[in-house]
Amino acid sequence: MQIRKKNKFFRRKNEPEFSFGLSKLKLDDKSQIAVIGGGPAGSFFSYFLLNIASRVDLELDVDIFESRDFSAVAPAGCNMCGGIISENQVQHMAAEGINLPPVVIQRGIESYAVHMDVGEVKIETPLQEKRIAAVHRGAGPRDMKEIKWRSFDDFLQGLARDKGANVIRGRVKEISWINERPWIKTADGFQKDYDLLVVATGVNSSTSNLFQEKGYCPPKTTKAFICEYYMENKMIEDCLGNSMHAFLLNQPRVEFAAFIPKGDYTTVCMLGKEIDKELVESFLENPEVKGFMPPDLDLKQKSCQCYPRINIKGSKKPFSDRVIFIGDCGVSRLYKDGIGAAFRTAKAAATTVIFRGISADDFKKIYWPICQKIDRDNKIGKMIFFGVSQIKKFRFARRAILRMVIKEQKKAGARRRMSMALWDMLTGSAPYSEVLLHMLHPFFLGRLFWSMACEIWPFRRRALRRENP
Ligand SMILES: Cc1cc2nc3c(=O)[nH]c(=O)nc-3n(C[C@H](O)[C@H](O)[C@H](O)COP(=O)(O)OP(=O)(O)OC[C@H]3O[C@@H](n4cnc5c(N)ncnc54)[C@H](O)[C@@H]3O)c2cc1C
Repeated sequence: MQIRKKNKFFRRKNEPEFSFGLSKLKLDDKSQIAVIGGGPAGSFFSYFLLNIASRVDLELDVDIFESRDFSAVAPAGCNMCGGIISENQVQHMAAEGINLPPVVIQRGIESYAVHMDVGEVKIETPLQEKRIAAVHRGAGPRDMKEIKWRSFDDFLQGLARDKGANVIRGRVKEISWINERPWIKTADGFQKDYDLLVVATGVNSSTSNLFQEKGYCPPKTTKAFICEYYMENKMIEDCLGNSMHAFLLNQPRVEFAAFIPKGDYTTVCMLGKEIDKELVESFLENPEVKGFMPPDLDLKQKSCQCYPRINIKGSKKPFSDRVIFIGDCGVSRLYKDGIGAAFRTAKAAATTVIFRGISADDFKKIYWPICQKIDRDNKIGKMIFFGVSQIKKFRFARRAILRMVIKEQKKAGARRRMSMALWDMLTGSAPYSEVLLHMLHPFFLGRLFWSMACEIWPFRRRALRRENP
């Protein structure tokens, strides 16, 4: 507390709070850091930490504990995800010198096809570039015959290893505090105390229970669904091409359902409120879905399936002295771009740790505002998803949206307001605040209301159908 007052007292006007030497807890040369979880958040953190440390001449020892083997097929190597790396995220990684090699990208997504009961439309990537990547998080589904691609998580872990991180295969099952320093023990008996504990365990393991006595409140989650279908490359080319196919159907509790082509497989991903078997079956039985997939593909014959949990509201305080929670087990983006959120929280945590310190106060000043920004954006996202779920209930509104997008996509050089809003919402490429700004633009609202009015007004509706059968 005293340090905080001193800091404020000595800080000159306009001088950033971000400064060296003010924390009561700091890392030194040879400090020991444990990262529990070697998914995207854990690997990004280790990569950034060691990168920045080497620039300021700080030598750190980083141990990453990971129970999965990302070079293995089936659940043993999979982190259960749609595997879409948004265009924004591809750019952010490139800016940090992380370029996804072709062996990781199973398909470059060029467009989104939106399917509704009233028709379908393809939305091309706004900049006509192939920048969205579809990846597998593990080596592949259960029945994978030949491993042709490298897992995304394995690639990221390789980057951390190249920077000097030590990856320890094993599950951390005990955490304790010795002289206020974190101490951990793995299932196979390895034990050690550390200066800093970075928790990147996601929301699909019970590891967070180990921190409850430290006052950690885990994020709110809901059940999602994901499955894989084996389809020969030719079948994927003919049926899905290089497009992700999103279904905007009037199905309660489903906020997002999509088919994502990858290598020899197609991933089906459903997000919403507590997705269960019944909901999945009714989605796969839907005439729009059945009509879209090849008739000889049995939608009941899945190569792999699971119901992972997804973060829908961040942890209230993802830090304490010497402990920080990043990625899904801290704060993530609502329904979209979880990998992007893992990247941002990991980078913010690494920067805080090196330039500020490792006390709860340091994390509160530098790391927490970044988490709060993501959390505020998620609140806007919730409003948008609520609005869309209401609009989806009305056939005339669905038709109006479809017509707007069809018209925009036909006109080269036109301002594609509805297409852009749908693109950003479906891909997670832009913050929800930006999507809302698009939607509140007077031209957007004017065109939407006019389109809806045309759908309701019978004479105009007939004329529209003649124009666009
Ligand atoms: C159905 C679904 C679809 C999704 N689709 C997308 C998408 O298309 N694009 C996108 O960007 N995001 C998507 N997400 C979100 C994305 O998967 C997560 O945001 C992202 O994986 C978070 O990374 P993480 O490193 O925080 O956690 P995780 O990826 O969950 O990694 C946590 C790691 O910690 C390890 N671990 C846990 N406990 C221990 C322990 N005690 N000891 C050792 N290791 C441990 C686990 O094995 C795991 O490897 C989706 C999520 C779901 C559920």
